[in-house]
Amino acid sequence: MSTSEIAAELQLSLPTVAKNLSVLEKQNLVLSSDVRKNTGGRNSKLYNADGSVHVAVGVNITGHHISAVVINLQGHVVSQFRQRQVFARSDAYYRKIGEIVAKVVRESEALDDQILGVALVMPSLISQDRQHTYYNGVLGEEPVISCSELSAYIPYPTRFCHDGKAAAYAESWFNHDVTDFFYLMISDSIIGTPFLGGSPYDGLNQRSGEIGHIRMVRNGRRCYCGKRGCMETYCSTKALSDITDGNLAAYFDLLEKKDPQALERWDEYLRNISVAINAARMLFDCSIVIGGYLGQYMDPYMDQLRELVLAEDPFCDDAGYISVCKYKTEASASGGALMYLDEFVQTISTDEAFPERSD
Ligand SMILES: [Zn+2]
Repeated sequence: MSTSEIAAELQLSLPTVAKNLSVLEKQNLVLSSDVRKNTGGRNSKLYNADGSVHVAVGVNITGHHISAVVINLQGHVVSQFRQRQVFARSDAYYRKIGEIVAKVVRESEALDDQILGVALVMPSLISQDRQHTYYNGVLGEEPVISCSELSAYIPYPTRFCHDGKAAAYAESWFNHDVTDFFYLMISDSIIGTPFLGGSPYDGLNQRSGEIGHIRMVRNGRRCYCGKRGCMETYCSTKALSDITDGNLAAYFDLLEKKDPQALERWDEYLRNISVAINAARMLFDCSIVIGGYLGQYMDPYMDQLRELVLAEDPFCDDAGYISVCKYKTEASASGGALMYLDEFVQTISTDEAFPERSD
């Protein structure tokens, strides 16, 4: 972009933009190039943000897989990898995490001093200092896991990140159609994240949005949390894939072929998630975004789902507030990395250039 285009976009005066660009150039955060004008006038300069100056790594750890992404300052995924690996609290497992991080970093061609940090994204509750997880029910009965333990073979700064909040964060970066939204990550478990006023609301104990443990059925199915009848047991994708040996793609194949058992299961399942969606809508009166594994398959079924939610909703006659996530691949790993990048952007200072609003 040229200086005048940036000034118009940001509604800043030309001298202010020029001073800021000069400071950012000195910090190697923008690159400039001369463009010769065909009309014979003075050459103009074009500026580009240099996304490669810093990158961050996100590692998503689930019960059966490890996936990792490297993301640059422009928010682009520059390398990624996914491997089936059953979670284990063992040195061999921690070594495997280290190998996967080394692999994606190597493929990204980033140098060590360009790496802002590694987010270990977990299906667990996270302590406020982001150095411990607790309530690791999805990973087994592990009580507390420390970040230093899991990152024994990672030579960069590390911290934990909640998988649902990370996925919501990635969605907020790339989906500008929604501002205030409740992100429902529906995979092997169901987790919600209220994303309000531009950031996730964590709650007093970093436990906001745990919609999966609201009771849906009294004395219902046993949940891994120890209670019975939680939404978790009726709304996670396991409630679908348990008729296809845990293979969700195979379940949706059956559904597409109108297999009677898959159809019967689908009707019950949609009714259940419509209750979960309505609960979030009643609490926050915001848009609802469906992510997780389910989000990858929901597009053809949204009209059916919206109709069921409307039957629950006493106030609305249009359920257009429900949408499918736009960031569909490795949203949790990416969101963890994006948090590091965002924090770095907040630290960029152009104070000496005295930014001023022209309005
Ligand atoms: Zn539960």
